[in-house]
Amino acid sequence: MWLSLPVGVLHGSTPGPVIWISGAIHGDELNGVPIIRHVLDRIDPATLSGTVLAVPVINVLGVVQESRYLPDRRDLNRCFPGSKRGSSASQLAHLFMTEIVARSSVGIDVHTGSGGKANLPQLRCDLEDPETLRLARAFAPPILMHARIRDGSLRGAATELGKTVLLYEAGEANRFDATAIETGVRGVMRVMQALGMVDSSSESAALAPRISRSSSWVRAQRTGFCEMMVSLGAEVSEGDTIAIIFGALGRKQMPVKAKSAGVIIGHVTSPIVHRGDAVANVAAVAD
Ligand SMILES: [Zn+2]
Repeated sequence: MWLSLPVGVLHGSTPGPVIWISGAIHGDELNGVPIIRHVLDRIDPATLSGTVLAVPVINVLGVVQESRYLPDRRDLNRCFPGSKRGSSASQLAHLFMTEIVARSSVGIDVHTGSGGKANLPQLRCDLEDPETLRLARAFAPPILMHARIRDGSLRGAATELGKTVLLYEAGEANRFDATAIETGVRGVMRVMQALGMVDSSSESAALAPRISRSSSWVRAQRTGFCEMMVSLGAEVSEGDTIAIIFGALGRKQMPVKAKSAGVIIGHVTSPIVHRGDAVANVAAVAD
C-alpha cells in the first residue's frame, strides 16, 4: 500500500535559511505534532525569510500503531542515514535524509520521555559547537544538556552532513503536555528569530537556560508504589528525598534519595516501580 509522509512547506517571500522541524520519529512521542501545528499557525510566509520544512510525523507506521517502533520492532532513530534498498526503517531514514535534511541547514527534532517517564523541557545537543550553543540559548528551555551523538540517530546523520541539530525533549510518550508544547513553540520561534527568519519583536526573551554536562538516574531500592516528592525542574541537594516507595498499607516506606545535587530533568510517572527501576534523572549544573 502507499503511505504518505505529511510535509508542510512554508516558503517565505524573501530568501533565508532552510530549517526543518520534525516530530514522532518515535511513534508514541507526540508533543512535536501540536508544536509544529502552532508554529505553522504563527508564521506568515509574507513576512518569512527562508523556508520551513515541517514534518510532524516521521514514523507514520509507528503513530498509526501507537508504538515507539516500526512494525518490525526497529527503532527508526537508530537506522539513520539509512539506505535506498535497506529495511523499511532504513528506506524511511534515507527518504528523510534526501528530501528534508539535505535541503536544510538547521533542524529541530522533537522527542518526549519514553516508557512511563516524563522529561523537563530540555535541549540535548553539542554545546561545544558555537552555532549550536547560540541557537540552543535562543530556544531557551529550562536546561541545556550536552549530549553525545547516538549511533544511527537522525541527529548523528545530519551532524555528519554539517547541519546544526537541536534535539528537544519534553513531556512523556502518548501524552500532550501543555508546558512542553508551549515551551517548544516559543523556543522554535526564538530560534527562527536568531536565524533572522521572523521578526525579532514577535517573541519575548526567556530566562537564560541552565547548562548541564552530565546526569544520572536514581534507582528504586525496592518494589512498591512510588510517590514523587519533587516536580520536574526542582533543585535537589545530596540526600534530599526525591520519592517514597511503599507497600499497599503504607508501611515499610523507603525514601529514594538524591545521590548528588542537581536539577530533576526526568522522572518515572508509573505509580508502581520495581527494584532497580530508574526513578528520577538528576542533572548536575555548574552554576
Ligand atoms: Zn524519542
